[in-house]
Amino acid sequence: MLRHPGQAMTVEDVELDPPMRGEVLVRVAAAGVCHSDLRYANGELGQGYWPIVLGHEGAGIVEAVGADVAHVAPGDRVVFCFVPACRACRYCVAGKPNLCEVVAEHGAQGMLMDGTSRLRLLDGTTLKHGLRTACFAERAVVAAGGAVPIPPELPLWQAALLGCSVVTGIGAVRNVAQVRRGQSVAVIGCGGVGLQVVAGARLAGADPIVAVDRVPGKLGLARAQGATHVVDAAAEPDLAGVVRRLTDGGVDHAFEVVGRPETIELAWDVLRPGGSAVVVGLVPEGVKATLPAIELLSDKSLRGTYYGSGDPAAEIPELAALAVTGGLDLATVVTHVDGLEGVEEALDRLRRGEGARTVLLVDADLAGYPGAGTGVADPSARSFP
Ligand SMILES: [Zn+2]
Ligand SMILES: [Zn+2]
Repeated sequence: MLRHPGQAMTVEDVELDPPMRGEVLVRVAAAGVCHSDLRYANGELGQGYWPIVLGHEGAGIVEAVGADVAHVAPGDRVVFCFVPACRACRYCVAGKPNLCEVVAEHGAQGMLMDGTSRLRLLDGTTLKHGLRTACFAERAVVAAGGAVPIPPELPLWQAALLGCSVVTGIGAVRNVAQVRRGQSVAVIGCGGVGLQVVAGARLAGADPIVAVDRVPGKLGLARAQGATHVVDAAAEPDLAGVVRRLTDGGVDHAFEVVGRPETIELAWDVLRPGGSAVVVGLVPEGVKATLPAIELLSDKSLRGTYYGSGDPAAEIPELAALAVTGGLDLATVVTHVDGLEGVEEALDRLRRGEGARTVLLVDADLAGYPGAGTGVADPSARSFP
């Protein structure tokens, strides 16, 4: 729980109400630590919405369902979807459930879809649900649409990633840029989401795929996900020039997956005429990026995206099936695992730009993590290069 931004998160006992009508109680197996969690912890997001239980990328097993929930039953394995679209508002009806108005209205304030919370401190203080999910916890109550069933073959410590980094990264490639076979791609920032953008570009048949990061280890991970070229941003003074040289004058698609003005500008600078840049990274409130507007005349475009810009609840099962058949390698992007109490360390790694994803094994056995049950999880499989 985050009691206040700037303070270390604490692991505490709290009250969790049973699921109400249209809600699901999930026993959490594993939860990924995402850059958005860091933005909340730093006070750059969710102004005033604390105390809050963070965590929005996770997986577990359904323990109970409220009235009118038919799509899952106790025992089902589910991935959290932090936009449980209402399916009735103008955005949902227009095929943009990621922009659901009801989610935006209540969810932005740390509440569930009816505008109330199921979480309380032991003294009765209302606790907020981080991004409608709050899965840095042993149990979570979410709206029915926030629990998406997946096939049993995929271990939950890997499935956890589907609900944020995978759907966000691959959605940016498929739904926003609509990358086609043989097109050139640059991916700026190879953290948890950036690596999924690389994987999405590979699945789309992009070539070349240039990955840019300032941490050599992450460039190694990017190669493993399908990058054909890597550029060390820390060692290279003229990044845009290098990327343009590698791609015969610039790329068809650039993806910014950092959330900083200078990397947004870099994504723009590496485009060829007619190319498009997609900003996937989460930029803190108040931050502005500047672009040479004359270049709009060369048909360049800049796009935004949220949560993959598609229908995450429909895409998560498809992506899970892809991971089961080996089309997606989720295991190697998990560079660190820890228990719930390891969340602060995981946030510090994100602050230092170190590693890709930390997965908190809330219940290592349920998560199916290698070595679970022996008391010693196998770190050799996941040690960061
Ligand atoms: Zn996230
Ligand atoms: Zn809606």
